[in-house]
Amino acid sequence: MTDLPGGDASTPIAVLKEAICHFAAVRGWEPYHTPKNLALALASEVGELCALFRWLSPEQSLSAARDPQQREAIADELADVANILLLLSAHTGIDLSDAVRAKLEKNARKYPPPPTGEERGAEYLNP
Ligand SMILES: [Mg+2]
Repeated sequence: MTDLPGGDASTPIAVLKEAICHFAAVRGWEPYHTPKNLALALASEVGELCALFRWLSPEQSLSAARDPQQREAIADELADVANILLLLSAHTGIDLSDAVRAKLEKNARKYPPPPTGEERGAEYLNP
């Protein structure tokens, strides 16, 4: 598990998904990994991540990842969120890369970039 090579730029999602699925399988956790349980686990892990930032000022939240202890805690929770997300992807058969690409296309149509300079109409003068 810890011998996975590379960072985000060189690690395929499939490699991470296979690693977490193997981790769960050898521990006999698969029967508990229903989509409902994984969605709830995902929400729980997001809550743990949010707790690390709760009550921080905006400035403190921006600098939190520069403190070694806070950085490790944030990284741990990000990993928990990512691992559960990967398990949910695996157990629903939804390809995460395809889903992200499809959603980016939907969001690009829903939220087009704002007009710039001369393209701006009167509605942009008085927001
Ligand atoms: Mg956690």
